[in-house]
Amino acid sequence: MSKLIPIAKPSLGPKEMELVREAMASGWISSAGYFVEQFEEICAAYIGVKHGIATTNGSVAIQLALAGLGIGPSDEVIVPNFTFAATINAVIHVGATPILADIDPDSWTLDVNQVAKLITKNTKAIMPVHIYGQPCCMTILNSLAVEHNLYVIEDFAEAFGAKYRNQMVGALGNVGCTSFFANKIVTTGEGGMCFTDDTELAEEMRMLRDHGMSNTKKYWHIRAGYNFRLTNLQAAIGCAQMERIDKKIALRTKIEATYVRSLGESPYLTFQTHFRDREKICWLFTILINQPVLKSPDQIVEELLKVEIESRPVFVPLNVMPPYQKFSHETLRHSQNLWRRGISLPTFEDISVEDIERVGNELLALL
Ligand SMILES: *Cc1c(COP(=O)(O)O)cnc(C)c1O
Repeated sequence: MSKLIPIAKPSLGPKEMELVREAMASGWISSAGYFVEQFEEICAAYIGVKHGIATTNGSVAIQLALAGLGIGPSDEVIVPNFTFAATINAVIHVGATPILADIDPDSWTLDVNQVAKLITKNTKAIMPVHIYGQPCCMTILNSLAVEHNLYVIEDFAEAFGAKYRNQMVGALGNVGCTSFFANKIVTTGEGGMCFTDDTELAEEMRMLRDHGMSNTKKYWHIRAGYNFRLTNLQAAIGCAQMERIDKKIALRTKIEATYVRSLGESPYLTFQTHFRDREKICWLFTILINQPVLKSPDQIVEELLKVEIESRPVFVPLNVMPPYQKFSHETLRHSQNLWRRGISLPTFEDISVEDIERVGNELLALL
């Protein structure tokens, strides 16, 4: 039997090892130290904004952005129904009310027409999620934000390096938040970052990240803050990863092309759309199963596992899960339809062409 092909795995090279050793040898293993600032600077320059604020993970990066913007009880934040739960959990953790919006069936990202209808006098922010590497339609969201005086917080945990109209996602709203979890484009094991051009907001987020402590007067607390810091050891891994960022993204683009080549003739599959004004990246290669195939994504995942291939169904729409059912409403049709059809296949930098073809052939045989 062939060896299991995992759905994802981090690509770690000798440079990661070298920089982690360097961090260890320096004695700076907590959040002070050379690599944290360096990682923030490299990432901010890459995304094209002034400030990067490294955090413990991507989930708290979103929470820090909300807290930094002063969003809390009695405020409403519009989030897509089709996302990883961290997006909505952050809204709930700051005490704000999440408002679920459906997605556009072609991009799988926020349906901007529905967003426009959901805005009320209590709305404070819109939180587009660039899901499965696909940039959201930012022009319309940003003009809605200007019109209604709202903040835009981008969750680009799955789209680090993707572009919308030649600009990096994560630089298109007031704050961009990303994740460096092990299955993301760039990894530090656990980790995240907030990105912004707003210097005042960056300072606020830095202060909140460090227990709400004053920058000028030590152990004097201005706000009830958090410990959301990244460690120097993790940042060392991130610095090594960023040296190869262009290659990482190119490898993923090639993986997507190889999958499309081996699956492309099937009438039973729909691929993610490539829009002319967006450069999506391949986070997890994800497809939709068309009718009349009667197998559910869960069944296909199970059958693929029998031939040593790991895959996973797409995200469960938030409104069907217990903590979020109370935010459900009538018009969340497209996210629920995606859930019944979507599957992600093994996507990681070191996967071989042979393995991609094997996944393709096994999947086709099941349809
Ligand atoms: C991974 C992910 C997050 C959370 O990041 P963590 O680092 O795992 O906390 C948030 N939003 C989306 C869309 C994600 O995919």
